[in-house]
Amino acid sequence: MPNIAVFIEQRAGQIKKVAWQMTTAARQLVDAEGGEVWGVHLHASDCDVTSEAGKHGAHKIFTAEAPQFARYDSELWTQALAAFIQEHQPDIVLVGSTALGKDLAPRLAARLDCACISDAVGLTWQDGVVVKRPVFAGKCFAEVTSTAATTIVGIRPNAFAQEETGGEAEAAPFGPTLDDGAARARVTAEETAAAGKVSLTEAEVVVSGGRGIKGPENYPMIEKLAEAFGAAAGASRAIVDAGWVDYSHQVGQTGKTVAPNLYVACGISGAIQHLAGMSSSKCIVAINKDENAPIFKVADYGIAGDLFEIVPALTEAIAEVRG
Ligand SMILES: Cc1cc2nc3c(=O)[nH]c(=O)nc-3n(C[C@H](O)[C@H](O)[C@H](O)COP(=O)(O)OP(=O)(O)OC[C@H]3O[C@@H](n4cnc5c(N)ncnc54)[C@H](O)[C@@H]3O)c2cc1C
Repeated sequence: MPNIAVFIEQRAGQIKKVAWQMTTAARQLVDAEGGEVWGVHLHASDCDVTSEAGKHGAHKIFTAEAPQFARYDSELWTQALAAFIQEHQPDIVLVGSTALGKDLAPRLAARLDCACISDAVGLTWQDGVVVKRPVFAGKCFAEVTSTAATTIVGIRPNAFAQEETGGEAEAAPFGPTLDDGAARARVTAEETAAAGKVSLTEAEVVVSGGRGIKGPENYPMIEKLAEAFGAAAGASRAIVDAGWVDYSHQVGQTGKTVAPNLYVACGISGAIQHLAGMSSSKCIVAINKDENAPIFKVADYGIAGDLFEIVPALTEAIAEVRG
């Protein structure tokens, strides 16, 4: 009968979608096995997530408000969550595998000397938490069982669907003692790349370009198609390494992991390292002039042809359909 704590991540007051996806998954697990779902939310200003947490299946929502939670600070946020875990002893703590979560989860595990499993895409319970996670760049999956008293599990964004159960959560404020003096590092500023654009890891649709676009002057063609879809624009490592686009766009093993509803790969061959970052997408469309390109093996829809003809025509058609 696991009690599951879910870290409700916010950046600049915006809740990450993965938080509600994890809450939904946690609720499905406790509905089958017993136990409760507790949201844990750190924030700096009045940001009430009680009703959203309840809607997505949380039984309780523990919130801590402090000016130090205005922006992410590894040491102080670890202190706060560690204090919560020590007091409430959840069996499982779910943290999104976001940039922030990948820093926070192992710190928490090290601080509390508990188990930590990263990059989960599946979650069950058999006298301990059983986590499904991709290994060997997504070529296969491993199932890892932890029987530790508390296990921190990093959950891949978009691995679970977000659903509303229509429930209500009980609000339970908590006030961790933050020892600013103990922190050995300070965050003094934050720079956000590509502000205002759709976030790659949160996007419902991602349009990516690869070396087939021939040069940096043609990346705007990919951005235009992305814009027509209301999508985020991604890239293969080949064009990031060539300096055609910023690293923040890179999808793959050494870039971002995305799992949108629709992934459109334009002029991307489909190397295993690229697939590692996008093969969990719900629907994959590939545009490539080489009909034997490996990307077609994972694509749901393939267009064998010249992207310089297809992408502008598709952009026009999508813009027309979406008004
Ligand atoms: C340790 C390691 C980590 C890596 N991490 C990543 C990663 O995170 N992400 C990643 O993407 N890669 C990664 N790579 C690199 C990866 O192996 C590939 O080299 C890279 O993905 C290739 O990029 P690409 O598909 O854009 O280029 P190419 O492999 O050169 O493919 C270009 C494709 O464009 C097609 N094309 C050409 N012209 C046109 C046209 N006019 N119309 C339509 N199609 C056209 C070609 O047929 C071809 O299939 C990694 C490699 C290593 C070793």
